[in-house]
Amino acid sequence: MIDKMLCSNRDSLIHAMKVINDNSLGIAFVVDDRGHLCGTITDGDIRRSLLNDIDLDQSVEKAMSRQCVVGYVDDDYETLVNKASNKVKIIPVLNREGKVVSFFQFSQSVSFPVAIPNLSGNEFKYLFDAFFSTWISSSGKYINKFEEGFSNYSDCSHGVAVANGTAAIHLALLALWVGAGDEVIVPDLTFAATINAVLHAGATPVIVDVELDSWCIDPTEIEAAITDKTKAVIPVHLYGQSCDMGAILESTKNRGIYVVEDCAEAHGATYSGKKVGSFGDIGCFSFFGNKVITTGEGGMCVTNDAELDSSMRVLRDHGMSKTKRYWHDVVGYNYRMTNLQAAIGLAQLERINEIHHNRECYEQMYKEVLKKFGEIEFQKDNFLNRKKITWLVSVLMCGEKERDAFILHLKQCGVDARPFFYPLSDMPIFKSYCKKPTRNSKILSSRGLNLPTYESLKSVNELRNILSSFQLQ
Ligand SMILES: *Cc1c(COP(=O)(O)O)cnc(C)c1O
Repeated sequence: MIDKMLCSNRDSLIHAMKVINDNSLGIAFVVDDRGHLCGTITDGDIRRSLLNDIDLDQSVEKAMSRQCVVGYVDDDYETLVNKASNKVKIIPVLNREGKVVSFFQFSQSVSFPVAIPNLSGNEFKYLFDAFFSTWISSSGKYINKFEEGFSNYSDCSHGVAVANGTAAIHLALLALWVGAGDEVIVPDLTFAATINAVLHAGATPVIVDVELDSWCIDPTEIEAAITDKTKAVIPVHLYGQSCDMGAILESTKNRGIYVVEDCAEAHGATYSGKKVGSFGDIGCFSFFGNKVITTGEGGMCVTNDAELDSSMRVLRDHGMSKTKRYWHDVVGYNYRMTNLQAAIGLAQLERINEIHHNRECYEQMYKEVLKKFGEIEFQKDNFLNRKKITWLVSVLMCGEKERDAFILHLKQCGVDARPFFYPLSDMPIFKSYCKKPTRNSKILSSRGLNLPTYESLKSVNELRNILSSFQLQ
């Protein structure tokens, strides 16, 4: 593990940056040829040197700090804790010869956030390339490549990259002419962006319950909620699980009801072997920092309909006519993604299978460690035609009290677990859009939690110990 923390005093700043990026700890130890410590370098040091016009291919010695707190292999725990004050957190540990053999991390401050993006592929290379090309705004080769690559990945022929996932849903509704007087059916259990986008479009949301076993919108509830005014349904593929698209399309087809899929949490999940996002009229994705793949902020609308693709492009770009510059046929928006974001997205997309695999391994680890608590129920993956992906590992506890106690225990150990979303219908601003009790959504919301899901240097064993130390009741 210590290898991932080290760089040589002859390395360049860019190499040091790579080491820091790979270990996700924000710091690297600089050593000479004998392995003796020369200094430490943090991401902050690199940032400051960049601001001082120090070039990234200059020596790491230009930016490192030579004065640093160190621990020794003979130090006891207490001494190491004292040395690794809150400010330093991570210190190198030396043997008697002065060689860096290990490191110590102040344990109270060890934290496992719910998500950390993994940017260890070509992200930095493409970002740099986009940067130096000067195409840093919303045109450039990475936009085209990312749109083409991601829509292709999602089994769609067109992709329109946008500023974020909420903008994607809004844009989809606008392109379908969903607006004032129209009803749009949404699930009660989702992130608020789903319903916010409906309200931004001026339409009326109709909140319905979810299935107790899949946690996704219940097709029978959709059927029951359809009226003359229903213009669209937004199935949300929640926590990586596909909705029952077959039943949903059965209810909506030939009735003039559009389907806009909210795929913000389910890049790559499938129904009948086809990717989510390819079933509805338009599929909407988010690339926020905690999603399966990220561009920092970002989103995409995918579709198989060339006309919808074309109108989304116009609406994304101020509603400007495609043939007559500065002539506006419709009231549009600026919902564009930058080439810089797309550069990161393309590199993420190259590794999406690996990212999925790593997340699955994490879920497997949780299953093994938590199986001693029979009461913890993992998200199911045994629904006909549906194949989920692992976004954030999601589980149900037997009750709200137990769930909250578990979250608290984890918090005290520096692990950031999250309760499920609140039901939309519990919030005063959305309450009036829910006409029928949503029993399942309330049960799931009170019992569910998401666990940290990402890969990094931080020891899986440590997480294992924290989880194992918890006693139910
Ligand atoms: C994240 C998310 C969104 C919104 O994405 P942003 O990029 O944050 O705007 C929409 N719907 C769901 C279900 C989400 O989880």
